[in-house]
Amino acid sequence: MNSPSRPGDSAAARRSLEALALGDAFGERWFPLFRPPRQAYAEVRARRTPHEPVWHWTDDTALALALQRVLDEYGHVEQDRLALYFALAFDADQARGYGHGMHVLLPELLTSPADWRTLAPGLFEGGSLGNGAAMRVAPLGARFHADLGLAAGQAVLSAVVTHAHPEGVAGAVAVAVAAALSVRGEFTLEAVAEHTPQGAVRDGVLRAAQVPFATDPWKSADLLGNGSRIRADDTVPFALWTAARHPGDLETALWATAEGFGDVDTTCAITAGVVGAVTGVEGVPAEWRLRREPLG
Ligand SMILES: [Mg+2]
Repeated sequence: MNSPSRPGDSAAARRSLEALALGDAFGERWFPLFRPPRQAYAEVRARRTPHEPVWHWTDDTALALALQRVLDEYGHVEQDRLALYFALAFDADQARGYGHGMHVLLPELLTSPADWRTLAPGLFEGGSLGNGAAMRVAPLGARFHADLGLAAGQAVLSAVVTHAHPEGVAGAVAVAVAAALSVRGEFTLEAVAEHTPQGAVRDGVLRAAQVPFATDPWKSADLLGNGSRIRADDTVPFALWTAARHPGDLETALWATAEGFGDVDTTCAITAGVVGAVTGVEGVPAEWRLRREPLG
């Protein structure tokens, strides 16, 4: 039973978080740091499981864990506390692949978390429109699936602590709503667009809804973006397209997302958070679960 002060489905949130971390760690394997692009392409096409014994997760998971901690403790997004937990996550391990903006912002928030109000909008002259608020938010959407308005509203509160630009916020809303709809068994790209604020992210989700699922994922990524521009509108539409293409099958969804390459830890984290909100990680091969770095 959920008490009134702790609304939401924490089991669904946990399923989504476990899957998000798996997607993040799996996706990270395909970066050129670990295997040259030509080899990565061939291995993804052949569905060859990455051979490394440990798949480390990255900033996507570190910040999703921080957000989960706030929601577990408060039952809602307590923004100053969230700013502090983001900063603590960064401070604990700065080598998790954080973007430039977070390297600037998060050390400042460690000493004065409440300053997110002035510091986040000052990033990149108008706030970050990157994919950082979207990549960590699927478990929040899963948690609040019973109330789409609440899921969207809490997603906004979680986003603006670091990503103040409307497109950065819209990316978070789209992913949170997608995860919520996924748990409800109502996930379609059209329904996500309906609940996403107007702008480039929403336009991208509407474009994704027009791409037939028979399309090869690499071709879809060409049309929708694969996150290589590190913007929410370049990342979220494709990640949600593969999630909608493979609801109920996390492993297949992740292979399809990996075919898009680009910011592949983040696209895979988003796809996995949405699909895994329903499936959890039980359906993927056992060695995937063993190799993913534990959440601690
Ligand atoms: Mg990352």
